[in-house]
Amino acid sequence: MQRFGTRIRRRTSRWALLVAAGCSVACSEAAQRPGGRALVIGIDGMSPVLVERMLREGELPHLAELAERGSWGRLRSLKPILSPRIWTSMATGKLPAEHGIEHFARIDADGTPRLYSSLDRRVPAVWNIASSAGFSVGVVNWLMTHPPERVRGVMISDHAAPGALAGRLGLAAGVLKTPQKKIEGASREAVFTHPAAWAERFTALGTAASPLTKVPNPFAAPPPGKGRLLWERLANIAARDEHVVRAALEIDAELRPDLLLVYVNGVDAVSHFFWPSVALDGPDPPAHRQPAAPLARQRAALYATYRFADALVGVLLRGFGTQDLVLVVSDHGFENARPGDPSSGVHVTEQAIDGIVFAAGPGVPSGGQVRNMSVTDIAPTLLAWLGLAVGSDMSGRVADFLPIETGRIRSWDDLPVEHVGGKESGAEDVIVEQLRALGYLE
Ligand SMILES: [Zn+2]
Repeated sequence: MQRFGTRIRRRTSRWALLVAAGCSVACSEAAQRPGGRALVIGIDGMSPVLVERMLREGELPHLAELAERGSWGRLRSLKPILSPRIWTSMATGKLPAEHGIEHFARIDADGTPRLYSSLDRRVPAVWNIASSAGFSVGVVNWLMTHPPERVRGVMISDHAAPGALAGRLGLAAGVLKTPQKKIEGASREAVFTHPAAWAERFTALGTAASPLTKVPNPFAAPPPGKGRLLWERLANIAARDEHVVRAALEIDAELRPDLLLVYVNGVDAVSHFFWPSVALDGPDPPAHRQPAAPLARQRAALYATYRFADALVGVLLRGFGTQDLVLVVSDHGFENARPGDPSSGVHVTEQAIDGIVFAAGPGVPSGGQVRNMSVTDIAPTLLAWLGLAVGSDMSGRVADFLPIETGRIRSWDDLPVEHVGGKESGAEDVIVEQLRALGYLE
């Protein structure tokens, strides 16, 4: 095993050199990078409709600052509107049929229910490409990054946070209509971070005593009675978002990575329960489901959740200046469940398909509106920012707000992606196969 690992590392670095050499050709006319770093904050399920309303009401000061300094608008997403496929499209510039991540879980050909994992991703992500070209990266909690990948920097997988795997198995059980314990998880015994030493540091960050933001956890005070359990669950999810952001801050302080990507999902979780309380997109929810008094409390909690996310954005922004590119993105919005649907907030139809994108940095028009941007444009935009070539086989393109000429490369898909972690079957075989195909192994 060890010998294998060493061999991979040596071959990988040789590959990196080749890529760097190739890039000096592919990116020859693209060396117009304004010089700063890049930060991407992913907020699952943040709705442009509620953001617009809350910006108008002065409720989201940090997003408002980004909107003033830069541009914002709707980010066109993909149908079916399922988070794993969309976040992977953002990271790869490719559609789900190409990148291979279709959902949270699936039934294998042999009938085994299984979580999708990063091993199912068939193409490199922007953090692999940036790493191979010599840029340092930090990736924290990005959806579908377990098992973690060997990047030039730190990757904390989306199964690392307490409760993350349990939550994922719960979702998968719902999707597959299978008991949780029958679902093969990717991570029950595996490694959650790269380098592995970050696992302990990450865990330690979960017990920080002082709050990170002035906006408190929206669910800190559970109501009496029936709602209490749900409130506690949502409080834990908000705490997890804060934990994730603490990790990103620690990585940023230590590494100052060229590219930092962070993903949180509290807004999505709360919206699934409380979206109808804001009644932005249809008639008020049916009386039999949502009695009047809790509705006001739910509405206040959803607003507080947006303010909390905005405060986390503010904390992350502190490490980035006007020379840097900052993107805040979401993968979809929300809508009321249709009549007869037992769930509450959902994202199914055209009404919920748009997410948000905020962008600020050199050259991004101030006070501008982002138009015609798709989730697949995120990776090409980041590559262009780093002065790297965009794959001609990517569905996405560089965002209009970034005035950078960029090089093209036929494809990045041959770039090997190396996963770390012990118990995976198949990962090593895949890498060997890739390297053999490239002629690096006899
Ligand atoms: Zn989502």
